[in-house]
Amino acid sequence: TKVEQILNAKASVQEFIQRTHRHFIGGEWVPAASGETMDDIDPSTRGVLTQVARGDSADVDRAVAAAAQAFRDKAWRHMSPQARGVLMWKLADLMAAHLEELAQIDSLDMGMPLRQAQYGTVPMAIDHMRYMAGWATKIEGETIPVSAGPFFNYTVRQPVGVVGAIIPWNFPLLMAIWKLGAALAVGCTVVLKPAEQSPLSVLRLAELITEAGFPPGVINIVTGYGPEAGAALVAHPGVNKIAFTGSTEVGKSIMRTAADRMARVSLELGGKSPNIICADANLKRAISGSMLGIFMNQGEVCSAGSRIYVAREIYDEALEQMATYAKNMRVGMALDAKTQMGPVVSAEQYERVLGYITKGRQEGATVIAGGGAMPAAGSGFFIEPTVFAQVTDTMTIAQEEIFGPVAAVMPFDTVDEVIERANVSAYGLAAGVWTENVRTAHYLAQNLEAGTVWVNAYHVYDAAAPWGGFKQSGLGREMGHHALELYTETKDVWISLQ
Ligand code: NAD
Repeated sequence: TKVEQILNAKASVQEFIQRTHRHFIGGEWVPAASGETMDDIDPSTRGVLTQVARGDSADVDRAVAAAAQAFRDKAWRHMSPQARGVLMWKLADLMAAHLEELAQIDSLDMGMPLRQAQYGTVPMAIDHMRYMAGWATKIEGETIPVSAGPFFNYTVRQPVGVVGAIIPWNFPLLMAIWKLGAALAVGCTVVLKPAEQSPLSVLRLAELITEAGFPPGVINIVTGYGPEAGAALVAHPGVNKIAFTGSTEVGKSIMRTAADRMARVSLELGGKSPNIICADANLKRAISGSMLGIFMNQGEVCSAGSRIYVAREIYDEALEQMATYAKNMRVGMALDAKTQMGPVVSAEQYERVLGYITKGRQEGATVIAGGGAMPAAGSGFFIEPTVFAQVTDTMTIAQEEIFGPVAAVMPFDTVDEVIERANVSAYGLAAGVWTENVRTAHYLAQNLEAGTVWVNAYHVYDAAAPWGGFKQSGLGREMGHHALELYTETKDVWISLQ
């Protein structure tokens, strides 16, 4: 079955995947200093796709040195903003020319349904790179009318320096581009560590980076495990800023380590996002939107709408429609164009999610759709789209991020009550609202503690719209011009006029 799934990929993808994968440092492909490799698994079949370099602090040292050198080097430092933007746009064009390939690689590597990669995440990554390319020429300072005396006072915004970027496995290419886009636009250099479960699309990206013509060392990639390569990058004194997307637990430890040298930190972390369906909602749209909200990418989305609150008067009807929707979803091999939901990413994630389903049952919730593993879909890590009813706020499945295809559906009576219950969570990444009443929509949007609120929609993203979390969902805003703040220092200059 391992062979079958790879054979469904383009010949160029097969050839690429089966290579020996190394680190990308200073424009060169280099093996791990230790000589170690790690297996990369196809979650649709549990087969070993390939081997990837297992990096540690020695590799991180080399990569940070290359990034620091590139940051000092005139080829990058003195490159005009316009030329930087042109290079970024060229990279985006190359990504577009290889869209199908990149989509297949992410799909094979982490189980994302191919159609989602083709029409969703890879195009979003390309748009994001183009949007950020436009910003390269627009990083402006200000002149300030100071009253301290006869001075001309102005600000300049300068790149923060070497960025250590650490990304999760759920949207490998897109998460890399979210960090690279802003960092390159302002003139930083980067050491990127992809997740150990899904490093391949970023390694293919490195080839396109070379082809686009970026100076060596501007972008470096070290593959490896979090506690080895990731931790070494966070602790490295040569890294000026850490851009992290991943779990809240690791995010907290990164913040602690960074505190010692005051490294800049931005964090995009977990969530347990509330999705509220009011009695006056267009139910058909609300149900399909909410099911997309929880089941897109197997629920492995930081902003998954995993707590679904439904107005009590429509609760039973909504449950029935959700169950029908979930039962009709096509779960299968990621690379199959008909698949709507693929496997979860790894054996560890598979056990974790199934553990939460068991816990939900034990704590008294009722499964109305799914509720277990799905061997019929194949030998991979398949889990049924699962909907729980009779959930209460104190149950584990209503409180913890499951990061899998599991919805907890709860009734509510009043808008103020649901706001309070939604905001109880330590997380605050996103929220959904379904109502035809404009006052209710705005009232909820104002009062929900979330970085993004979608009204009569879910999971819509745009390079121009800021993204990030309230509370323990993170720190800082990626995307939009807000992201540029994370990668620049503001310098204020005083010129005496007498
Ligand atoms: P994770 O925190 O385990 O791993 C994320 C990355 O950090 C990986 O590259 C990993 O190797 C690395 N890492 C692990 N331990 C480390 C350490 N001690 N030091 C340095 N690096 C370390 O998270 P995950 O399981 O890969 O991803 C899932 C999590 O990511 C979820 O909580 C999800 O909500 C979150 N996420 C958030 C966003 C967002 O935009 N807010 C987007 C995607 C995913």
